[in-house]
Amino acid sequence: MTVDGYTSVAELDAALVECRACPRLVEWRERVAREMRAAFRDQTYWGRPVPGFGPTDAPLVIVGLAPAAHGANRTGRMFTGDRSGDVLYAALHAVGLANQPTAVHAGDGLELRGVRITAPVHCAPPENKPTPAERDTCGNWLRAELRLLSPRAVVVLGAFGWQSLLPVLADAGWAVPRPRPVFGHGVHVELPGHNSVLHLFGCYHVSQQNTFTGRLTPAMVEDVLTRAADVAGLTR
Ligand code: SF4
Repeated sequence: MTVDGYTSVAELDAALVECRACPRLVEWRERVAREMRAAFRDQTYWGRPVPGFGPTDAPLVIVGLAPAAHGANRTGRMFTGDRSGDVLYAALHAVGLANQPTAVHAGDGLELRGVRITAPVHCAPPENKPTPAERDTCGNWLRAELRLLSPRAVVVLGAFGWQSLLPVLADAGWAVPRPRPVFGHGVHVELPGHNSVLHLFGCYHVSQQNTFTGRLTPAMVEDVLTRAADVAGLTR
């Protein structure tokens, strides 16, 4: 799949939402959208690829995993309408990178400052588990988006995102060392690129599995976001 010809993030997003390259994910995202969860029966699910959210010149990028079936696959906006998003947007607001702490639906007035949120897989996968082939196929979109954005810092939520992102960064022109840096919460790696160094940060995923158990606290998320915002030049 060639997706490198786009000259703007807006153009890339417009093409992304039409993508049907992964048959299993197309079937799943559309089936979930048809069948719906009882609590959301009065809504129309998005049921398509979810594009990145945030300014198209953001110096800081957050990379998650994939849209949640009844979260972003329903609302059409990254981390919007689910518990993971509640934690992430509250933290972004706390450190001055979002204008409000909540994300309920795509028209709720939420705006991000200097941050764009994207994912290695743009369609909701069954059980939140994309296959390696789906990850690699969708990695083409991520590579094209990162080339256009050329960020100064990236925060990766979780090991899946980290492992997906490193080959994408290498493909996009950043120097990724061998052996590859190991994921961990708070890990900070500097990757030389064509024009500048990319600061890569690891953060545990904001999933309920981590936040309900106390493995990841709001303060831990805010700490990583603050460090990344500082090196990205985002004054708060
Ligand atoms: Fe296209 Fe990515 Fe969705 Fe696969 S996961 S269908 S590559 S947008």
